[in-house]
Amino acid sequence: MTDVQRWKIGDVTITKVTEIEIPGPATWIVPDATPENLAREKWLQPHFADAQGVAIMSVHALVIESGDCKILVDTCVGNDKTLTIPNWSNRTGPFLEDLGAAGHPADAIDFVLCTHLHVDHVGWNTRLVEGRWVPTFENARYLFGKQEYAHWDEFDTKEFGEVMDESVRPVVDAGVVDFVETDHVVAEGVQLEPTPGHTPGHVSVRIESQGERAVITGDLMHHPAQCAHPEWSSSADWDAKTGDRTRREFLARHADQPTLVIGTHFATPTAGRIVRDGDAYRFAV
Ligand SMILES: [Zn+2]
Repeated sequence: MTDVQRWKIGDVTITKVTEIEIPGPATWIVPDATPENLAREKWLQPHFADAQGVAIMSVHALVIESGDCKILVDTCVGNDKTLTIPNWSNRTGPFLEDLGAAGHPADAIDFVLCTHLHVDHVGWNTRLVEGRWVPTFENARYLFGKQEYAHWDEFDTKEFGEVMDESVRPVVDAGVVDFVETDHVVAEGVQLEPTPGHTPGHVSVRIESQGERAVITGDLMHHPAQCAHPEWSSSADWDAKTGDRTRREFLARHADQPTLVIGTHFATPTAGRIVRDGDAYRFAV
């Protein structure tokens, strides 16, 4: 059984189910996040980097429960996929069992929401059954950004492997996708918020209930060190300049607020608050 975390935001419950959490280099995704640079930010220790500056990052899914509605946000890497990242290709991990053990069997999910259509956010959209890719969440509607899907459908670069053909197009072909705008209201107190840059239609997810607030970042940041260094962009950014602006606006908007910020790739404990620190920010857990 993997690590499971839960947060209450008013009447809404958010559960984290981890697929992968390991220490290792972050430079392949955030080139400036070198061990030297991370070791300098002491506040990252022990959760997000070790004393040598080795990053700790996570791939996890979040289940939002609002009333009777269960929304699965981002579906990790998945099993049996044909990918260019060696540790992510042809996985045989227990994610679905872990999700079930956390109280959320696949057939109980009402909506699957992808913050964007990158490899580590769409993987469990499908699973391989008798040689065919079928929707994993058989009773769910899948919510894809209209603009996001149009972009990757047209520019299917296969940079990370067969992401579109194995994890995205099969659910579209199965007729279970709703293409939504970037400010779509998913359920009571759960709304998308456009945070473009990493990808064209990238969204974050805002949760509000009983006067309490949380936000799920998506990949507008990959590592908490980017709170201190908003200028560090990701090698996977579609438009780094827009991503930079989005990150700065996001940090300014949520700094010194009671908003619980839940990082999509932030290692355990994953959630915290943005606090102002000189000209930039820190992530306080
Ligand atoms: Zn990602």
